[in-house]
Amino acid sequence: MPIQHEIPSYLTPHGTGPWGVYLEQIDRVTPHLGKLARWVETLKRPKRILIVDVPIERDNGTIAHFEGYRVQHNTSRGPGKGGVRFHQDVTLSEVMALSAWMTVKNAAVNVPYGGAKGGIRVDPKTLSQGELQRMTRRYTSEINIIIGPHKDIPAPDVNTNEQIMAWMMDTYSMNQGSTASGVVTGKPISLGGSLGRQEATGRGVFVVGCEAAAKRGMDIKGARVAVQGFGNVGGIAARLFAEAGARIVAVQDHQTTIVNENGLDVAAVQTHVSAHGSVAGFSGAEELKDRAQFWGVDCDILVPAALEQQITEANAHQIRATIILEGANGPTTPAADDILHDNGVLVVPDVIANAGGVTVSYFEWVQDFSSFFWTEDEINLRLTRIMREAFAAVWQLAEDKKVSLRTAAFIVGCTRVLQAREMRGLYP
Ligand code: NAD
Repeated sequence: MPIQHEIPSYLTPHGTGPWGVYLEQIDRVTPHLGKLARWVETLKRPKRILIVDVPIERDNGTIAHFEGYRVQHNTSRGPGKGGVRFHQDVTLSEVMALSAWMTVKNAAVNVPYGGAKGGIRVDPKTLSQGELQRMTRRYTSEINIIIGPHKDIPAPDVNTNEQIMAWMMDTYSMNQGSTASGVVTGKPISLGGSLGRQEATGRGVFVVGCEAAAKRGMDIKGARVAVQGFGNVGGIAARLFAEAGARIVAVQDHQTTIVNENGLDVAAVQTHVSAHGSVAGFSGAEELKDRAQFWGVDCDILVPAALEQQITEANAHQIRATIILEGANGPTTPAADDILHDNGVLVVPDVIANAGGVTVSYFEWVQDFSSFFWTEDEINLRLTRIMREAFAAVWQLAEDKKVSLRTAAFIVGCTRVLQAREMRGLYP
């Protein structure tokens, strides 16, 4: 009698969550992997999943417990690498998918990392600074056993920033007994952070946006851009597009949607968000009553830069942009991908479009090891070169194989990962 293995529920292939989306993307790329397809199961199973309880004492003396995760999806090409998200909707399916997209992304732009991701299910806006610090430190201690400069290197993601990276670095270093600046990236400059890291993801979105626009014969000057999410990624991308002469005609955040067909004053929106935590109430724009109307805003370029599964069968038909730049990870479902493809919309997938962040994280990690720091110009030049080359390679493959940019990017990324897997062989 063969042994019946119980398949963990999180590996159920046809789920509708982010992990289900990722598995469908892998199914779509598998026919293009040739002989390497025999290794494809390796991409459908995270290497390591750690679920941790994160208890803290609240300021009022009560004890609160939060659920935290660190998932190392694949380390065939190098240490795990990927951000940490603090959000009330974080689930294991989400962290698994985000870790897997990091594997594909790091390989697609050829930085020497595997893929990992972490998160805590918490609304950080409900915590005081002290509580936030205690939660971050306890989480870091709990995942301490699997992270490290040569094992797995966290970075910022939604609702985490350089202060949180500083606390993570300090906590890990206290546990090790020596300062280990290379354990996280996205740190403050004074602690071994890199110039240009904070802007890197938005800058990468902008760089590939210019490449995609050139392919479509679109002038960035005067192009109308709509952005969902006005945080680290969306806010910076919006600023760079505006500086290049584009008009930012709509911004949606977690609270509301603002529109101005003459173009928003991005610096003023940024100042408003810094003061009020949202674009809501910004005086230089109209607010749309119905959030869903955002998807039908008349624009040339759409930048989803918030969360996963935002562009779905329900709204893909409304989209009027001709180019979508995925600043967010996993913003488009496979069904929506098909609709956009039929409508002639060019989708630059997350694993290329938002790879600027991890690319400069790689620069930061390299600088930390050598204790030799580069100028911002050097960093932006190298970043721009890597982004352009990655875009060009994926574009060419998509043309040659007559597939979407997403499938082409997955072919590049998955091939590199599975070649490494095959060359290393299975242990023991
Ligand atoms: P952030 O916390 O700085 O900003 C998130 C933004 O999204 C905020 O403006 C928030 O209001 C908005 N938002 C949240 N929920 C929303 C909703 N339901 N509808 C509309 N807007 C909503 O986060 P970030 O670092 O900018 O990350 C945004 C996305 O980019 C995520 O998918 C993240 O994984 C991805 N990403 C980030 C980086 C990075 O370096 N920070 C790198 C690669 C990819």
